[in-house]
Amino acid sequence: MENAHMYPDVQLLIDGQWCPAASGKSIPVVNPASGDKIGTVAHAEQPDLDRALQAVEKGFHVWRKTSAYDRSKVMRKAAELLRSRADAIAPLLTMEQGKPLIEAKGEVLAGADIIEWFAEEGRRAYGRVIPARTAGVYQLVVKEPVGPVAAFTPWNFPINQVVRKLSAALATGCSIIVKGPEETPAAPAELVRCFVDAGVPAGVVNLVYGVPAEVSSYLIPHPVIRKISFTGSTAVGKQLAAMAGLHMKRVTMELGGHGPVIVFDDADVDVASKMLAAAKFRNAGQVCVSPTRYLVQEQVYESFVEKYVAAAGKIKVGDGMKEGTTMGPLANTRRVTAIEGFIDDALKHGAERKMGGSRIGEKGNFFEPTVLANVPKSARAMNEEPFGPLALINSFKSFDDAVSEANRLPYGLAAYAFTRSAKTANAVASEVETGMITINHLGLALPEVPFGGVKDSGYGSEGGSEALEPYLVSKFVTQAGL
Ligand code: NAD
Repeated sequence: MENAHMYPDVQLLIDGQWCPAASGKSIPVVNPASGDKIGTVAHAEQPDLDRALQAVEKGFHVWRKTSAYDRSKVMRKAAELLRSRADAIAPLLTMEQGKPLIEAKGEVLAGADIIEWFAEEGRRAYGRVIPARTAGVYQLVVKEPVGPVAAFTPWNFPINQVVRKLSAALATGCSIIVKGPEETPAAPAELVRCFVDAGVPAGVVNLVYGVPAEVSSYLIPHPVIRKISFTGSTAVGKQLAAMAGLHMKRVTMELGGHGPVIVFDDADVDVASKMLAAAKFRNAGQVCVSPTRYLVQEQVYESFVEKYVAAAGKIKVGDGMKEGTTMGPLANTRRVTAIEGFIDDALKHGAERKMGGSRIGEKGNFFEPTVLANVPKSARAMNEEPFGPLALINSFKSFDDAVSEANRLPYGLAAYAFTRSAKTANAVASEVETGMITINHLGLALPEVPFGGVKDSGYGSEGGSEALEPYLVSKFVTQAGL
């Protein structure tokens, strides 16, 4: 129960007021490092959602009329507040999600950067003037906010997943209802509090928690809501996108991935193995762009595996609140069961266990960083997103073999490649079917660069100027002088 006294009972934010659910119901929040209940989160039901819908509609009318300049000022103030509160928010994030405190603080600070970037970019959401065929006629393309947004965010990055949607919505003049993650509710509530304290008008930002399927099936079809944004699994994303389609709602979907990593014979294996092992086990592998399916060219395969295992062997698994911990527990018991299942199945299919493979201790969701090699394609882990501390390493012969394996799955989120040849780098960048590829370094997920997938990994972007487009509609205005 370490630090349990600091963890709040998280409330809903509706129409500028923090409040319990109308029913008084709440959901327990558990620390994944101990399994202990540390607090609760209010459980919204239809009456709460109806109030949030009324508020978000009212908020939209206010916010869309607020100039981009003034919106930017409020957002920048929220970013400042978030940055100044990072030391207080990070422990909440670690207690509810498990990640090491340093990663939690990094996530909060990165959140402030994201808000600032969107605050600036919103001031540059320009339209167009199209030359007219008649003198005295102006043909304008005006960018307008699409309307109230319903956003659904997961538990792996409690701040980051909310802040991207919230910032894009606010920068463009949209209001928003965020359905936050019930398992990790306090950090996102503190993020939202920064916007409230920065002076965002009542109703512009609303935060609810509840039963995800109940909330989404009520909000998505509701006529007040004009846009949906979801981050989570492909299976759920497909259901929500179908529902949104039925009601003609705009959609952004950030779904699962199965990150292929291609390491060519001419790569710097020392650098690649260290960088990739650190990236794989960050947030205990519960990252949609995690480097997961390693394809290593024959000549460097043995040395890559050896160096990767050596680098992963330095990871210190423990309570994220303890100094020196570099990997916390898995965020919930579902992930422990899932990862055990993937490993058992892969070993049964003949995979070689290079390190790890088991749960650590009985208390908390701790799991060993795990590396399997020579994993047959028939193993489940080679086809489904593991979403945990599991690396799968296989060898390949030719460029074409590697690309065809990278593109074999329906996922298309992030890919990684390491090579010293400019020709190979260009070819791999062009042939791999993903929304993002990072070559010879780790360069994904900055606020100013696009973030999103193709194929079953979804559509739309949550970074870069591309991230504003889904929240804007183009209105054509043609005007003649009298
Ligand atoms: P899940 O598939 O049930 O849920 C994933 C997320 O979707 C959760 O945040 C959940 O609250 C939400 N969700 C589920 N059903 C919903 C619905 N009907 N309406 C609205 N939201 C809904 O399973 P889980 O155990 O929470 O997570 C497991 C899988 O989800 C992982 O294996 C991973 O593939 C995926 N996931 C992806 C991301 C990501 O960043 N893309 C984040 C978290 C989870």
